[in-house]
Amino acid sequence: MNRLVLNIILRLGRYAVLPVVALAFVILAIWLLAMDRYTIAVLATAPIVFSMVLGALALAIGLLLLPSRKHRDFEADEETAPGLWAIWKELDPSFVRSRRTLLIDTRFNASIGEVSRYAGLFGQHVTMTVGLPMLIVLDEPAVRAIIAHEVAHAELRHTSGAVNLADFIAASENVFLYANPERTITGRILRVLLHSMLERLEREYRALSRENELHADLGSAARVGRTEAARALVLMEACGTRLTDLVYSPLEKEVLGAINAPRPPFERIFKQLADIWAPEPIAAAAKAGLTGEHEPDSTHPPFAKRLANLGYDEIPEIDEISTSAIDQLLSRDAARDIATLFDAEWTKTAQAWVTIGR
Ligand SMILES: [Zn+2]
Repeated sequence: MNRLVLNIILRLGRYAVLPVVALAFVILAIWLLAMDRYTIAVLATAPIVFSMVLGALALAIGLLLLPSRKHRDFEADEETAPGLWAIWKELDPSFVRSRRTLLIDTRFNASIGEVSRYAGLFGQHVTMTVGLPMLIVLDEPAVRAIIAHEVAHAELRHTSGAVNLADFIAASENVFLYANPERTITGRILRVLLHSMLERLEREYRALSRENELHADLGSAARVGRTEAARALVLMEACGTRLTDLVYSPLEKEVLGAINAPRPPFERIFKQLADIWAPEPIAAAAKAGLTGEHEPDSTHPPFAKRLANLGYDEIPEIDEISTSAIDQLLSRDAARDIATLFDAEWTKTAQAWVTIGR
């Protein structure tokens, strides 16, 4: 039952509240029709019916007023990121069928999402987001395997779910703009109902996402081979740890004690590449990831489980990284410009933060 509701929401997004609204109005209509015959019973149930209809109305308004999302990431066209676009085209057989956007952001990660306008009548718009740290720290074969993983998500139709679920949650929560839970009984009842429902939905969603990740890993292996898919997994895990240890954690500490904004992250990543790639700490980080504690709320399965899914009981022998993917995948100017742009934005925010902090 939970899975069914979740699937409806993942498909319809915020419009999944419409059946609830429709049901409330059907009940209202029946209630009005019953007025003549069962006057007393009808009047006795009036508070319940009115609260329900008001709640449904608030849901409907919340749905309509939901603001559209705008992205602030860097949009990369084919001139800026020729290599990335080429890999995407090569690995994705359905490439010509939908409109595409490629974004570059500041996370050590990649993701893919799909928006279908008007229930898919006007086709799909697929957006892939690739993190700049990943392009700098990983090499081309690893990035290829990761794009293959994202393409598999899209092909297996995992893509629209997260966006739709977030939309639905936001639309549902708008209800409190009209039914204040601190002051109205309707609001209070709705909060209890919504809270338990959203909690259950999120739990189901996490389980579903973890299954999806394993399927996407297999999809990646089918495209680039099992060895490359596993290598990319190991490198994501290990380089992620190295980045945190060598760049992000020290940076965080420096910001806390700083008077002026410290040196920005991308400058540091470029400078520390050799250290990040050092084989021994990489091997140690991968090993630690295999046995390390797993975040129970994560939408990703544990590292060990993902490796086992590809047929590896332990960390496979992998080729070391010796070149950064960024030089092959972005145009020469873009590689430098995007990093400078992100660093400048970071410095501006950090400077404001440091100044307020004093
Ligand atoms: Zn994934």
